Amino acid sequence: MTIGTGGVTGVYYPAGQAIATMVNAQQDTYHIKASAEATGGSVYNINAVLSGDLDFGIAQSDRGHQAWHGLADWEGDPQTRLRSVFSLHPEIVTLVAAEDSGIRELDDLRGKRVNIGNPGSGHRGNATDALRTAGIDPETDLSAQSLKAADAPKMLQDGRIDAFFYTVGHPNGAINEATAGKRTVRFVPITGMGQLLQEAPYYSTATIPVAKYPRVANTNDVESIGMVTTFLTSDAVSEEAVYSLTKEVVSQIDEFRTLHPALESLTPAGMLEGLTAPIHPGAERCFRELGLLP
Ligand code: GLU
Repeated sequence: MTIGTGGVTGVYYPAGQAIATMVNAQQDTYHIKASAEATGGSVYNINAVLSGDLDFGIAQSDRGHQAWHGLADWEGDPQTRLRSVFSLHPEIVTLVAAEDSGIRELDDLRGKRVNIGNPGSGHRGNATDALRTAGIDPETDLSAQSLKAADAPKMLQDGRIDAFFYTVGHPNGAINEATAGKRTVRFVPITGMGQLLQEAPYYSTATIPVAKYPRVANTNDVESIGMVTTFLTSDAVSEEAVYSLTKEVVSQIDEFRTLHPALESLTPAGMLEGLTAPIHPGAERCFRELGLLP
């Protein structure tokens, strides 16, 4: 069983690795071998799950919603074979800027070199949504870069970009790396999103906890928008396989939570919140046995 994740310094990758390790430890019981691979992110994972190139994929709930309903990257083409397994941690649209770039709010991004993310990432769409809501055209008002999230922190430290967007759980390795260099960095609030929040049911307001990054310039938590992370599959994956993987994660949840700090508030009931596509029968069976579904 293959699990598509994201860049190695995000949260998807270590979370996917943790799930694969837990499943593999029970190989005698489940007869499944799982492996997690680094990928381009949410959009890539959804497409790879649907094409059968991956069995499972981790993706932002906004992207799952869009795929299921035939919106954005899937405009006019609803992905009815997509299935939810469970949700994981909250993710926040995070805008990181070099302090010396003078960027304090979205409007300051005009004319700057800004990484909006690689095609295939979830955050590329979030960056575009936030910019457009702020009246900024990503194609003409700034120099938009398409770097992978794992490369952005170094590019920021090297002075080759001024800011980057990354939709991710906190804390994570990429932001730690961005804040660890000589160039001081700060989180830039993503506010004034009222219209977007009203139009797009999958976004909610969220706050970046700055205490998790001792070297960041901000002293107060930073307002933004966010969604949850979902673990997805397709209707082509067997009930037995999805049941086994779900059962393993839920029964080891105390251990799973300790494997990455972004997962620390995960609960079995919380794993059913924010799902987009219909739940896969294998996952449904597991949550029903636990009394969490009728
Ligand atoms: N949200 C990012 C994406 O969809 C990935 C975040 C992560 O790897 O933790 O591309």
